[in-house]
Amino acid sequence: MFGQAEYIWLDGTKPVQQLRSKTRILHDLGDKPKLEQFPQWSFDGSSTNQSPGNNSDLLLEPVCVVRDPMRGDGNFLVMCEVMNEDGTPHVTNERAKLRKVLDAGANDLDAWFGFEQEYVIYDQNKAPVDWPDHGFPAPQGPFYCAVGANVIYGRPLVEQHTKVCIEAGLLIYGTNAEVMPSQWEYQIGYRGSKEESADALTTTDHSWIARWLLYRIGEEYGWTPNFDCKPVKGDWNGSGQHTNFSTKDTRDPAKGSSTIEIYLGLLEKKHKEHIAVYGVGLEERLTGHHETCNIDQFRAGTADRGCSIRIPRQVANVGYGYFEDRRPGANANPYSIAARILATVTKFD
Ligand code: ADP
Ligand code: MN
Ligand code: MN
Ligand code: MN
Repeated sequence: MFGQAEYIWLDGTKPVQQLRSKTRILHDLGDKPKLEQFPQWSFDGSSTNQSPGNNSDLLLEPVCVVRDPMRGDGNFLVMCEVMNEDGTPHVTNERAKLRKVLDAGANDLDAWFGFEQEYVIYDQNKAPVDWPDHGFPAPQGPFYCAVGANVIYGRPLVEQHTKVCIEAGLLIYGTNAEVMPSQWEYQIGYRGSKEESADALTTTDHSWIARWLLYRIGEEYGWTPNFDCKPVKGDWNGSGQHTNFSTKDTRDPAKGSSTIEIYLGLLEKKHKEHIAVYGVGLEERLTGHHETCNIDQFRAGTADRGCSIRIPRQVANVGYGYFEDRRPGANANPYSIAARILATVTKFD
């Protein structure tokens, strides 16, 4: 029996890395193949902004395999790291940097992540789907978590995407319509089940596969997800990637609050370093308006959506749990976000 394996990786496009993928036909994969059953593969790095034409071969190292809901049973999506010919990580390989921080000690924290991925659905005219040809929709207000054809733009894509994320076995947590019309969110990460791990590598790999599936499903509609931090200028919400984070110590009823306090102190000191990897065009989004804190300020608060870090009300009440870093923008790389947070709380650099 032959099946198809879609090898997915991140290219070297600047300033925002893009997804690439190609298909390999493999035999005897079975229902639940092991990672080892997917061979290393190579690609032309000169066509992905990753190497010069005269020395173009780069390696794809499979790191995470899930079911392929597009092609169905017996087919798989294979997230890969990009390696140089000598087996060392390519300079564009942000996942390798995350592994480095984990191996240096962050693994001991038993950290869990949850990424809230916002995006805007664009149509073939490169405008938010269903927006009027001239002028703008009604001002923001009625669209967040709305229902009804007059306030909902693009739901079929969202429904389809959610379905395939579940079928793939991704850690999808939920979805909602966002504040700007045609803007949506899905979350990937901790879901409260002891059966699954919401560790840094799993949640970030799943986050990238979920983005790939969103683009892929979009092809069926002629629509493209837009991950810009501020896709529409003016009085319209930007798109973020709130990152929820906990460790075994923040989740410990005996020392949750005090650990969160320590982490907040460390995060404040490294604010600039975080902003540097939290997305391109982030200054247009973190203005202090539209549920954000100004990019030059670091503020933490309970249930306050104008903060850099929000402690959920429920967490403040019980004294342990997780917190939300509201700074990351929609186009930030989850590998870089997770690596930065873990580096900061472990004093890696
Ligand atoms: P918001 O109220 O900010 O919109 P959402 O409901 O969109 O929040 O998302 C909540 C996120 O918090 C999810 O991504 C979920 O995985 C994450 N989360 C919940 N509990 C934890 C935890 N203990 N550690 C890490 N992340 C968590
Ligand atoms: Mn949310
Ligand atoms: Mn949101
Ligand atoms: Mn949030």
